[in-house]
Amino acid sequence: MQEFEYNVLPSRVVFGSGSVKKLPAEMQRLGVSRPLLLSSPTKSHWTNQLSDLIRAASMPAAGTFSNATAHTPVTVTEEATALLTSVAADCVVSIGGGSVIGLGKAISIRTGVPHISIPTTYSGSEMTPILGESQDGVKTTRSDPRILPAVVIYDVDLTMTLPPAICSTSGINAIAHAVEALYARNTNPIISTLALEGVKALAEALPRIVEAPTARDPRDQALYGAWLCGTVLGSSSMGLHHKLCHALGGSMSLPHAETHTVVLPQALSYNAPAIPEQMAKLATVLPGSNGDALAGLELLIGKLPVPRALRELGMKESDIDRASEIATRNQYPNPQPLEPEWIRELIRRAWAGEPAK
Ligand code: NAD
Repeated sequence: MQEFEYNVLPSRVVFGSGSVKKLPAEMQRLGVSRPLLLSSPTKSHWTNQLSDLIRAASMPAAGTFSNATAHTPVTVTEEATALLTSVAADCVVSIGGGSVIGLGKAISIRTGVPHISIPTTYSGSEMTPILGESQDGVKTTRSDPRILPAVVIYDVDLTMTLPPAICSTSGINAIAHAVEALYARNTNPIISTLALEGVKALAEALPRIVEAPTARDPRDQALYGAWLCGTVLGSSSMGLHHKLCHALGGSMSLPHAETHTVVLPQALSYNAPAIPEQMAKLATVLPGSNGDALAGLELLIGKLPVPRALRELGMKESDIDRASEIATRNQYPNPQPLEPEWIRELIRRAWAGEPAK
């Protein structure tokens, strides 16, 4: 007899081609009319488009902030929050990847204004009540139901410009959420079903995006998979893989999705002996795996234009010991006990780019 507890997170999702046009209606539904529009510096054309869209619905933007930065620095959040107050905005709208969504969450939790998120990568952050912030070189993470965006608008049209290389790393980042949800200590049958469906969608879509970058169907399928993988991330505790990536990203400033892509096969290989049932289920949704989930994951990643070694991402060999120490400093639930010597070997293999085994 299975036993589990499951809290369904209260988020609203609007999915579809052209769905960004529903932004004015979603604002009306929330009872807000003066948004602060957020983007990263290279994507200010998106906030201009949103501004035109809501002005046409007689709800001009209160302001625009286009300086969202990776790892959500508190200094940037404070600057944007001061702007929100000075222009009397009554909500934030983030458009972009996880970096912009992080800023939207950080402003929303500080001020209480609702956050409408329009994701354009597969990071999944829009579906989680988790916020990572950096200050003085230290990245901290907290979870609070009020961090969850009030509305998420998924519009495949906005993802068409995402280069296949970023689709690939962002997509493997999403798959990593689902893989760890399968063996999370608080997993349940609903989450497992969503996780497997998310992996299936992305594993089918990513190679098709690489083959035909302008085709809409695989992009649609990938965005659907990213939504599911983000949903399970928001409801599950994460294990070794995410702790390792957090340690590597936070302490060595390695790029987020690329680090996940390199580490995932190694982390899965480490945990595999302790999770035979989950490995068997995972194999069923990874094309060409022939019953071997690790082989299926390697096959998928091998088809994608992605980095395979942490050294390619700028990590120094001399940092392997430091990364191992940080990753094993605190014990946390993980199917396979954390053995410092074997964690060091995992990181060394990921650094060198050796195949997982
Ligand atoms: P990102 O937001 O930095 O975006 C990656 C790059 O893709 C950027 O250069 C961006 O401008 C570009 N880009 C985004 N959408 C594009 C599009 N449609 N077309 C062309 N280029 C596009 O990276 P990310 O991987 O989306 O997010 C990473 C961040 O999100 C990290 O800080 C990570 O910690 C955070 N994150 C948080 C959670 C959470 O639950 N709190 C979950 C996942 C990731």
